[in-house]
Amino acid sequence: MISEYICNLCGTQNQVDAGTNEKVPGPLCSNCRSSTRFRKVAYLVSKHVFGGTGRLDQDGDCELKGIGLSDAHPVENCMKRFSNYENTYYHKEPMVDIMQAPSVPGVYDYLISSDVFEHTPPPVAAPYHNAFAYLRKGGKFILSVPAQPTGTEHFPDLSDFQILETKEGHTLVNATKDGKLEVFNNLRFHGGPGSTLEMRIFSPDQVMSLLQEAGFSKVELATDLPEEFGVSDIRGLSSFWIATK
Ligand SMILES: [Zn+2]
Repeated sequence: MISEYICNLCGTQNQVDAGTNEKVPGPLCSNCRSSTRFRKVAYLVSKHVFGGTGRLDQDGDCELKGIGLSDAHPVENCMKRFSNYENTYYHKEPMVDIMQAPSVPGVYDYLISSDVFEHTPPPVAAPYHNAFAYLRKGGKFILSVPAQPTGTEHFPDLSDFQILETKEGHTLVNATKDGKLEVFNNLRFHGGPGSTLEMRIFSPDQVMSLLQEAGFSKVELATDLPEEFGVSDIRGLSSFWIATK
C-alpha cells in the first residue's frame, strides 16, 4: 500500500510503500532525510511556538528568540530561516552544557531538546531545571525523550567514571561516591560512540514529574500523530512534551 506525506521541514511530497516500510525511526524524507521524530518536533514547534499549521517549512520569520540543543541537520536547516534561532552543541561553539545553569537566565522564548536528556549524567533533574532557567516567563520548552512504561536508570550511582574502549567493545568503569568500583558492559550508544551513551530510559510519568518539579506551569504530553507529515507510526517513537514556563 502506497501512502503519501508532506515533509513539514522541507516541503517535499514523499511516497511510502507500507509493505517495505523502512525500520524505525523511518520513513525518512527522500529529500532532507528527516525522520518521524524530527517531523513531529517540527510540527510541535510550528504549532506551539510559532502558532502555525504544523508546517514549519511554511512558517514566516519572527522575533522569537530560541535555541536548540544539538538539533539534527534536517531540523537545524529548516530552523535557520528563523533569524533568532541558534543551534547549540555540547562539544563545539556555540556551546551550551544543559547540565549547567545559564549565565544569563530568562532570555529565550523557546528551547528545543530532542532526544538529548537520556544522555546527560546524573542528577537526572538538572537539565530540566536548567531548561526552565533559560526560558523567559511564558516561554515554551519542546522536549522529546525515549520513554517506556517503566523507566530505567542504567547507572544510578555514577560519579567518577570513564568509558574504556576494549577489544570486546566499550566498558564503563565507575567509582561511586562511597568508593565502590562498578563495571558495565553492553553499553548503548545513539548515533555512534562518543557523548551519546544512553544513561537512562524515561517513563512518561517520570518526565511529567520532572517538568512539573522544575517549575513549568503547564505541561502537556503531545500524543497527536500528524499523518499528513508522515507521523503515523508510534513504534519506537519518543514521548513528546510541550512545557510552558
Ligand atoms: Zn524533508
